[in-house]
Amino acid sequence: MSRIMKTKSATTAAMALLMSASFLTASAYEMNYEVSFEPKTHYINVELTYSSDEINQPVLLKMPVWAPGYYLIVDYPKYLTDFKAEDASGQTLNWEKVGKNGWKFSPKSRQSRLSWRIFANERSVAESRVEENIGFLTPNGVFMHHDGDINHDCHIHFTLPDSWSHISTGLAKEGTTPGCYYAKNFDLLYDSPFLFGNHYTEEFSHEGHTYEFALETPDGYKESPFKEDFKKMVSATTKLIGDVPYDNYCLIHLGKGGGGLEHINSQACYSEGTFRFPSHDQYLRYMSFVTHEYFHLYNVKSIRPIELGPFDYDREVFTPLLWVSEGFTVYYETRLMMSAGICDSEYLLKDLSSYIETIEGKEGHKHMSLRQSSYDIWLNFFNRSENGKDVRISYYDKGPIIGLLMDIEIRSRTNCQKSLDDLMRLLYWRYFKELKRGFTEEEFWQSVAETAGSQLDDIRRYVDTTEDIDYDGILAKAGLGINHDSYQLFRLKDCSKEAEKVRRSMGLEAQ
Ligand SMILES: [Zn+2]
Repeated sequence: MSRIMKTKSATTAAMALLMSASFLTASAYEMNYEVSFEPKTHYINVELTYSSDEINQPVLLKMPVWAPGYYLIVDYPKYLTDFKAEDASGQTLNWEKVGKNGWKFSPKSRQSRLSWRIFANERSVAESRVEENIGFLTPNGVFMHHDGDINHDCHIHFTLPDSWSHISTGLAKEGTTPGCYYAKNFDLLYDSPFLFGNHYTEEFSHEGHTYEFALETPDGYKESPFKEDFKKMVSATTKLIGDVPYDNYCLIHLGKGGGGLEHINSQACYSEGTFRFPSHDQYLRYMSFVTHEYFHLYNVKSIRPIELGPFDYDREVFTPLLWVSEGFTVYYETRLMMSAGICDSEYLLKDLSSYIETIEGKEGHKHMSLRQSSYDIWLNFFNRSENGKDVRISYYDKGPIIGLLMDIEIRSRTNCQKSLDDLMRLLYWRYFKELKRGFTEEEFWQSVAETAGSQLDDIRRYVDTTEDIDYDGILAKAGLGINHDSYQLFRLKDCSKEAEKVRRSMGLEAQ
């Protein structure tokens, strides 16, 4: 992301609108938000000043029903209450609800004032939470955009309770007035969570970019290796792709809870509530969690299936490729930690074995393909249902297995000249940078064939169908074997020179 420019005047805003591809309305307008908090009652108060010369033309405002990266219809409008519309003199304007996430009103003067309140008391990375000392705001469930015009910009001013001192976010500040922010479009605003309050903050530079840690629970942080490991992980990841898509990046580390969500210039993760982990493995698990969300900067935010952006915020967005976006990210989280020297190859083999055990040790893999698990995620979020493990699989488990097998096949077929890394680079540079779009399913498989030098038909069948995977056959090409009772991976004692070369190229030699 490059630094964004201010466009305050209606003329500039109108020009931006005229150039916008999704320009659907005939009017030039400005949106200025004023936001305040009621920590005792967990409310966020939102006031929108809507300015337009088009008077008496109905305006439809929309609030998203989901957040990219969180493949669940959250129905954010369920948290909204007390919607009001007034003209410049304070006279009430008529308005009507349109569907579950639309509000329509007709301006009677150049400026209209809309307001609403959001109840914010959820411990979820995709929902807001306002408490005495902290406010975590997820913009999808707080702000509204003009229907059909997601590319419009907006200005936001936050007024904090007296006892709150910090605002942390990846979104750029506007000017020098505290609390002022600018979003060049609503995609960016909806992808920029905020943390407010009295949390610990630390800014630092690393390889030419600025980073902020915003820690709700910093207990043990200073004594932990986290900051140095984070830097090593960032270096390993950016080296893999060869590009850094942001100027500044914000890590929002939330208190005790579960879940993390990737954003274009930040990530928000719930945690153990402390950096004093009971064991080194538990620390590595947290570190892999952070690495996962960071790698999503590339894999899903940039390297993305064509369905995942521009987004339709009104409904589900179906794609058969979440196993690439999520599953490969799981494969890379530990590989990157190993490249960065944070964990060793024993940890990586143990980690990969655990996914094979999860898939092969349950019945679900006989009933659902990996492709189907991507497409149907909206029906069963995280596979949570009574018979989930019996009839479904998660792309978080089978995706990294396919990542490993595809990596081995590419290395083996190219005499270690290419690897899965080359596929990721090809997808990044060709589709995201050059064509400025996502890739189709066929384009993905064509890119795989181009990288490997031939079609990977077997791997595609393991993705598209429930056919049993030939683990022994493929793993042997990397000098690896699998114990079919425990599903643990191990290094073969006797293997070909070619297989030994593949194993070494993957960093899987005994240390
Ligand atoms: Zn993920």
